[in-house]
Amino acid sequence: MKRKLVFATNNAHKLDEISAILGEKVELLSLKDIHCDIDIPETSDTLEGNAMLKAEYIYEHYGLDCFADDTGLEVEALNGEPGVYSARYAGGEGHNAEANMQKLLQNMQGVQNRKAQFRTVICLITNGKKHLFEGVVKGEIIKEKRGDSGFGYDPIFMPQGYEQTFAELGNETKNKISHRALAVEKLCRFLKA
Ligand code: IMP
Repeated sequence: MKRKLVFATNNAHKLDEISAILGEKVELLSLKDIHCDIDIPETSDTLEGNAMLKAEYIYEHYGLDCFADDTGLEVEALNGEPGVYSARYAGGEGHNAEANMQKLLQNMQGVQNRKAQFRTVICLITNGKKHLFEGVVKGEIIKEKRGDSGFGYDPIFMPQGYEQTFAELGNETKNKISHRALAVEKLCRFLKA
């Protein structure tokens, strides 16, 4: 029998990617699949906290095994900003990638230390027990945008060991080395063990 697992997202791309990795033994359900149409509040000031809030909400209200993720870009010279506020760094409702990048580039004007990392945290709840998985990609913030693929801060983030930004590397390469891929890999290893 297939094991049912809820991924607290409605992002079809993320669902497909993870479903393919988990294989046929797992039936991955989205928020829509379980008829959950509320925007689960992400009120924590840490990535771990937000991932846990989302997973706990599903477990408490639906009693299903589930997991949730949260990601942030952490810039060393800005004490880890924008971090948990990455989506809404430039204010407003959030997800304005262009405004977020411009704000970050402005805040880093004249800053020599360009080190940054993308960090994804996944919180899984199975049989009432919580498990956290983390994926990190180190790199640097370049001074001007480069590349057209991907989303969010991809055009200004160059991963360590590469001469191209995430937006220049393209989705195929990025999805193999990304923070999300690393966290998902750990989740899958745990589920398959
Ligand atoms: P989420 O937790 O996956 O929704 O990510 C929160 C925010 O972090 C997004 O809105 C983006 O601004 C940023 N972000 C997350 N993952 C990436 C990535 O792979 N590339 C660029 N930006 C990202």
